[in-house]
Amino acid sequence: METLINGLHHVTALAGDAQQNVEFYTRILGLRLVKRTINFDAPDVYHLYYGDEAGSPGTILTFFPYGSRLPRGRKGGGQLTYTAFSIPSASLNYWIDRLRQHNIPFAGPYQRFSETYLRFDDPDGMGVELVTSDDDRRTGWVGGSVPAEHAVRGFHTVSLNEFKVDNTVKLLTDWMGHTLVAEEEGRFRFSAGVGGPGNFVDVLHAPNDVRAHQGAGSVHHVAFSTDTDDTQLAIHERLLDAGFNVTPVQDRNYFHSIYFREPGGILFEVATNPPGFAVDEPVAELGKTLKLPQWYEPRRAQIEGALPKIEVF
Ligand code: ZN
Repeated sequence: METLINGLHHVTALAGDAQQNVEFYTRILGLRLVKRTINFDAPDVYHLYYGDEAGSPGTILTFFPYGSRLPRGRKGGGQLTYTAFSIPSASLNYWIDRLRQHNIPFAGPYQRFSETYLRFDDPDGMGVELVTSDDDRRTGWVGGSVPAEHAVRGFHTVSLNEFKVDNTVKLLTDWMGHTLVAEEEGRFRFSAGVGGPGNFVDVLHAPNDVRAHQGAGSVHHVAFSTDTDDTQLAIHERLLDAGFNVTPVQDRNYFHSIYFREPGGILFEVATNPPGFAVDEPVAELGKTLKLPQWYEPRRAQIEGALPKIEVF
C-alpha cells in the first residue's frame, strides 16, 4: 500500500483553566506554546497548541480550555486514555526528580515492550506518559524550561482503550497503512510510515473498562499525518469506500483536516502537514500573540476581551 498516513500529527483535548494548562505543559513538561488561537467553532474559547520549536507533526498537543464551565471527564473505554511522550533513557531519573519537585504524583517506572515509562495525569486528569527511547533522533523544544539533553522529543504512542478491538485493528491495518509490531497482555502496538516514536498507536482490549465520559481532561480526537492535499484526498476516498462517514475537508488554517469515528467511537482526524504554524507568524514568534483566522479578524477586540489572560513560561 502506498504511504498515505505517516504516523501521528496531533492530539486535541479538553481542559479546564487555561493558565493552569499553560503552566503544566510549558513550565513542567517543557513544551513550546506554538500557537495561541481560538476554537474556530467557539471563539470565546482558546485553542492552545504545544509542540517542538516549529510545532512539527508528531509533537503537537492541543487544548480547548473551557474554564470552570466544563466538568471533569472520566477515563474509560471508547477513548484515547494516555498520550505518551518520548524521552531519552538517560533522562529517566531527571524526570522522576522533576515530577517530585513539582508535586506531581506519578506511577512507575514500569516496563512495557522493553521500554520504561512513567504515568501521571495533567491538572485536569488527562493521562500522560513519558517513555524512554534511544532511537528517537528528534530534538524536541530546546529553548524551554527543560535542559536540551532531557527535553521531551515529541509523541511516542497514543493508547486507545476499546471494548472490542477487531474492527479498529482492521481500520488501522487495512485502510490506514499501519502494521502490528508488538503485542503484550491485551495491548496491540501498531506503527505507521517509517515507524519509531511518534508513529505508534496502541490498541488496548479493555472489555471491563467503564465507558469514558467526555469532559475536562478528556482527549477529543487524535489526528494522523498525511503529506499533501492529494494524499489526503486519496485517504478520504479510501475511507469512504470502506464505509466510514468522513467529513469533507475543513480548513484549520495550519493544516487541512478530515474527521470520522473509528469503530470503537474515538474521533479520528487525518491532517495535512502543510502549511504549518509559520503560515501566519515567524517561527521565532510562535505562540506569543493571539492569532485569528481571517474571518474572525473584524471581531478581534470583542474576542480578545472575552478570553482570559494567560502568561507563558
Ligand atoms: Zn485536530
